[in-house]
Amino acid sequence: MIRVAINGYGTIGKRVADAAALQDDMKVAGVVKTRPSFEARIAVKKGFRLFTNTKDNIPAFNAVGIKISGTLDDLLKESDIVVDCTPGKVGAENKEKIYMPRKIKAIFQGGEKAKTVEASFNALCNYASCLGKNYIRVVSCNTTGLCRTLGTIDRAFGIKKARVTLVRRGADPADADTGPINAIVPDPAEVPSHHGPDVKTILPNIDIITSAMVVPTTLMHVHSVGITLSRPATREEVISAFQNASRIILVSAADGIDSTAKVMEYARELGRPRSDLYEIAIWKESINVIGDELFWTQAVHQESDVVPENIDAIRAVTGIEKDAHKSIAKTNKNLGMIK
Ligand code: NAD
Repeated sequence: MIRVAINGYGTIGKRVADAAALQDDMKVAGVVKTRPSFEARIAVKKGFRLFTNTKDNIPAFNAVGIKISGTLDDLLKESDIVVDCTPGKVGAENKEKIYMPRKIKAIFQGGEKAKTVEASFNALCNYASCLGKNYIRVVSCNTTGLCRTLGTIDRAFGIKKARVTLVRRGADPADADTGPINAIVPDPAEVPSHHGPDVKTILPNIDIITSAMVVPTTLMHVHSVGITLSRPATREEVISAFQNASRIILVSAADGIDSTAKVMEYARELGRPRSDLYEIAIWKESINVIGDELFWTQAVHQESDVVPENIDAIRAVTGIEKDAHKSIAKTNKNLGMIK
């Protein structure tokens, strides 16, 4: 059993902790929170050992009666790997100051720069090249979504070029401080956006240019994708490639799933924890081939698509499973995913 520490117990950290607890080849050694909160209380109730990042924070937990098992330092002594789910840039500091001196392997998230790590990770695209590495990062929710679908099409037909517009959610559901609430914000205003180069950390050979905007929703990101294909393909062949790919599902407006709100409702109907949708949802009606150009529209549940990737990243880095497909299948089964 690989002992996994989760440092940072927010949107991503709490989901990765629950997902790791469901696997039969790893166990959660403990989770780290900086401050006491209802989430800290529930973590303890769930049976996770709760730690805090520094000794100075322990009295705050004691004062409100939340059982604390020690500091991050104590936890790392009892762990084989740490999944760092702290806010962007904190992970890079943790790597230098904490993980490297203690010689513990670490997985970071998309808020960290690619240069912080030895490799960026997406299970379907580059599991094998991350085997045994010490420091990798699971790419962001948007990049994960694009790598899954672009990777599938590139492997099946070849991509000459990809042009993508990202419509990004303004904030996560629990985030009351972030907007916009009454505007569509080109973000970044510059074109191309940074998302294309981030995809190239996983799929270096794809010619991709992206632009992005932020809209007032908390539910999902939506990507409008346009591809020039290297080899001819029919619409039916593209649909079949997506149907056969793991962690991608086809949804249909004709079936009532005509918005991101309905995609999330679908996840609720599936009985997913927190109504998470780990898979990337592509609207079947949007898939179209015109000449050598292919189009589709996809939705990304930003809070959860990276969760199965973190589980596979743990297996890749520790080497407990060398075969990407076996790890992906195991993770999918344990998380109750469709495929
Ligand atoms: P979050 O703010 O919800 O959670 C971060 C947690 O880390 C908070 O509980 C915070 O108190 C804690 N924290 C802060 N400093 C800490 C420290 N020094 N030590 C330990 N804990 C500390 O953030 P999040 O949305 O979970 O994002 C985490 C990472 O995942 C970021 O790199 C982000 O870019 C990436 N990510 C976020 C999303 C998303 O949609 N939320 C999607 C994919 C990737």
